[in-house]
Amino acid sequence: MVPGSRAVLLLIGIMFVCRFTTAQTPVQPLNFIQYLALPDSFHLYPLEHSDKNIKTDIKYATADNFTRKQIYPFAAVYLTSPALQGLYKAAEYLKKKNLGLIIYDAYRPYTATVSFWEIIQDERYVAHPDKGSRHNRGCAVDVSMYSLETLELCKMPTAYDDFSERAAAYDMICSADAIANRTILQEAMQSGGFQIFETEWWHFDFTGWKNHPVLDVSFSELKINSKP
Ligand SMILES: [Zn+2]
Repeated sequence: MVPGSRAVLLLIGIMFVCRFTTAQTPVQPLNFIQYLALPDSFHLYPLEHSDKNIKTDIKYATADNFTRKQIYPFAAVYLTSPALQGLYKAAEYLKKKNLGLIIYDAYRPYTATVSFWEIIQDERYVAHPDKGSRHNRGCAVDVSMYSLETLELCKMPTAYDDFSERAAAYDMICSADAIANRTILQEAMQSGGFQIFETEWWHFDFTGWKNHPVLDVSFSELKINSKP
């Protein structure tokens, strides 16, 4: 081997090691004690239903989800305060169209994200534990819509947690009704400051989510410590 090619190989080796090391640096989810020390803007608050056209169906608090197991001990919707306000704004947008918002998931403790990864190891649909989920930051919601007249769910391109290409936010291989409903949902959520997620029509991230830490605070801990 000529000396020049040995140097090139050494350089490639160093680049590979650096890249590998960076990619494998895991997030450090904050525990409850660390959470308490955070500024209020990172704290989580429960959804208030009163006088709002919002209802909940927290799938991971039941066995009716892709894992076929109950992951959460009880149904709970927690988000940061700005994300909650954004959600109320999106619901107001829908109310004018005689529609309501239904929530399937919101803040998710990091421990639950690890459970999901053990079942579906596909980063298009489930967060890698090394990165943590957007839901772990209290800035993400999974939602759909229902009619305020009939209380029936609106037709959407797929069911919730359908891990196929049909679930993509801009997929066009579905009925005109489903596309129209998905567009209304996207417009409503964007009016509340949420961003569309490319691979899941039901998932939305509140603006600035990247600045929030990954949390591993249980619903029980949040419930006990929620401010009245
Ligand atoms: Zn989601």
